[in-house]
Amino acid sequence: MLRTREDLPVARRQQATRRPRPFPIGPVVLSVSLALGGGLAALFLLQEQLLERWIPPAGLVEGIEARPDGDGRLLGHFPYPEAAESELVEIWPGIRLQRDAAAELRRLLADARRDGIRLTVVSAFRSVDIQNEVFFNMKSLRNQSAEERAKVSAPPGYSEHSTGFAVDFADLTRPQTELSESFESTPGFAWLKNNAHRYHFTLSFPRANAQGLSFEPWHWRFEGSAKALEQFEAVQRFQRSARR
Ligand SMILES: [Zn+2]
Repeated sequence: MLRTREDLPVARRQQATRRPRPFPIGPVVLSVSLALGGGLAALFLLQEQLLERWIPPAGLVEGIEARPDGDGRLLGHFPYPEAAESELVEIWPGIRLQRDAAAELRRLLADARRDGIRLTVVSAFRSVDIQNEVFFNMKSLRNQSAEERAKVSAPPGYSEHSTGFAVDFADLTRPQTELSESFESTPGFAWLKNNAHRYHFTLSFPRANAQGLSFEPWHWRFEGSAKALEQFEAVQRFQRSARR
């Protein structure tokens, strides 16, 4: 007669339940390897993320301790790519500009001349390397901190000049005002204020600009091509939001 579990005396029933079952080696090996595999994968992903965070953010400049802010600006200046050699044309020896900007600039200079205004361009395209020299040589010559220097000059990688779309004008009849705030009082500046927009040039750093940079009446940038607009989109958006 087959005895059910209930027929067993209590003592034997407990003994029976305590009897060790055969060790389930298969499932244990499987779950251990799954857990290990999962753990390793998680570690790998975590490490990837940590590594990503450890790579120094782009936009740092050697010799400048400040870091770019949320807008990508360093000491007030937006980052700019360097124009490719193939995009640049020479207006006259040593002065190069993006093709579209150069054509409009020639038109602007010729029309100013016709109006009796003696404008010239003293600086246009500057490579990142040249900008590096401009920034750090002037900074040490004038014994300025990077912060002070950045008010009047862009750190390398942050200059509109490197795009090949920016120019520094001078008035040939007032040479002493070259790259000086006093350029504001020249006939050349008065003419630019009234006419530069017709050639798609705009004053980059007006008085009390949103970026907190020095007033530069001589420095104008070209915004008359899709490429130029694309490069200056961030700064335009920033200026618009600051005016609101
Ligand atoms: Zn300039």
